[in-house]
Amino acid sequence: MHEIGLLYKMAELAEKVAAENGLKKIISITVEVGELSGILPVFLEKYYPLIIENREVLKESKLLVEVIRGQGLCDECKTLYNIMKNEGKCPQCHSRSKTILGGREFVVKNILYEE
Ligand SMILES: [Zn+2]
Repeated sequence: MHEIGLLYKMAELAEKVAAENGLKKIISITVEVGELSGILPVFLEKYYPLIIENREVLKESKLLVEVIRGQGLCDECKTLYNIMKNEGKCPQCHSRSKTILGGREFVVKNILYEE
C-alpha cells in the first residue's frame, strides 16, 4: 500500500511549506495521478483523513485528485491512443510496441491555503 507512504510525504511537504511561509491553514491539496503510476486515487482519498487528523495546519484540508490519462504513441504506425482503454495495444495496427507519453506521474500540483 504505497499510497500511505506518499500521503505521509505529501503531508510533511505541505507542513514544511506552511511553516516556511507562516500559513495557518491549508484548504486543499491538488495532486495529479497518472493512470499508469500504480497509485490508486481511491486509496489516496480513503487514507487522507487518517494522515491529516493530527496535523494542525492540515486537519480541515481536502485532497483533490486529478487523473492523468495514460497516453501511448505506437512505435509502428505513430497512432496516439489511450493505453488503459485499449489494453496496451494500438487500436490501429494492434502492436504492443509503444512510447509512453504520459500517465506515470504523481505530482503535487497545487496547495491552496489561508494566511
Ligand atoms: Zn499502431
